Amino acid sequence: MYDGALRLPLPGRTELVGFADDIAVFDKELARAEELCDRSISRINSWLSSVARASMLSVAPVWGQALATPAYTRGLCSAHRLAALRISSAFRAVSDQAALVLAGTPPLDLLAAERASIHGQTIGRTLTPRDKQVLRLAAKDATLAASKGRWTYRMIPQLDCWLKRKHGQINFHLTQILSGHGCFRSYLRRLGHEEDDSCTHCQEQLEESAEHTVFNCARFAGERASLEAWLGNTISAENLVPLMLLSEANWQAVSDFTAKAMTELLAEERRRNQEAT
Ligand SMILES: [Zn+2]
Repeated sequence: MYDGALRLPLPGRTELVGFADDIAVFDKELARAEELCDRSISRINSWLSSVARASMLSVAPVWGQALATPAYTRGLCSAHRLAALRISSAFRAVSDQAALVLAGTPPLDLLAAERASIHGQTIGRTLTPRDKQVLRLAAKDATLAASKGRWTYRMIPQLDCWLKRKHGQINFHLTQILSGHGCFRSYLRRLGHEEDDSCTHCQEQLEESAEHTVFNCARFAGERASLEAWLGNTISAENLVPLMLLSEANWQAVSDFTAKAMTELLAEERRRNQEAT
C-alpha cells in the first residue's frame, strides 16, 4: 500500500518518506511549505480513503445485504465518518452526511447498497448504463433527503459536480463555511460557549452564522466586493460553490476570502475569551 502513496503526484517540490507505519511529508519551498504540505496531506488522505473504500466495496454485492441490520450499518458508517472528518478538517459535531460530502466521498452504506442492488438485478440480465444511472441517482437522492447537513446541501446543490470536480482542495476554513460549524457565535452558543449569538460588528443584532459572515456581514464588505468583482457575480448560498467549481482561480479566490474571514473570527473569539478570564 505504501508504494501507491509514494507514487502519488504531489504539488511543488513536496516529497514523501515512508518509515515503518509512518509517512513524513517534506517540502523544499520554504515560503510555501505549510500550504504545500497541507495540500499534500489532504491528497494522501483522499487517496487512502479511496483505497479503503474500494477494498470494502469490492465484495459489497455479497455483504451489501447485511446492511439491512442497523448495527452493521452503524459500524461501517462510523469508520467511514472518521476518515471523512480527517480529510475535510471538519469539527467532530459535523453530521455524517455533511462530512462525507465535504470530503468528496459518497456514503459507503449507500454505495454498498447500490452495488448489491446492481448485482441482484443483474442476475439473469445485463444492466444497461441507463439502469445503473437510475440506481446511482436513487442513492444520491437518499443522501440529499437526509435530515442533517441541510446547510451543506444548500451550499452544494449539485452533488455530482462537487464529487467529480477536477480542482479544489477542501481545507479547515472552507469546511467551516460549508458545514456551518466554526467560530460563528451562533454555533458557539449552541455548544454553550457563548451567551449571545449576535454579530459583534453589525448594529442590527444579526445572528453571526456562516451565512451572515460570508454573504452579509459588513465587516467583510470590502473583501466580499473584491471577490464578487473577481467572480463577476453577486454571491449567494446557492451560487458560491457552483462559481468555485467553474475554475481553479475562482476556487482559490473564495478560499482566500474564507481564510481571511475565519482567521478574523477566530482571533476575535480568542480576544473575548481572554477578556472573560
Ligand atoms: Zn456582521
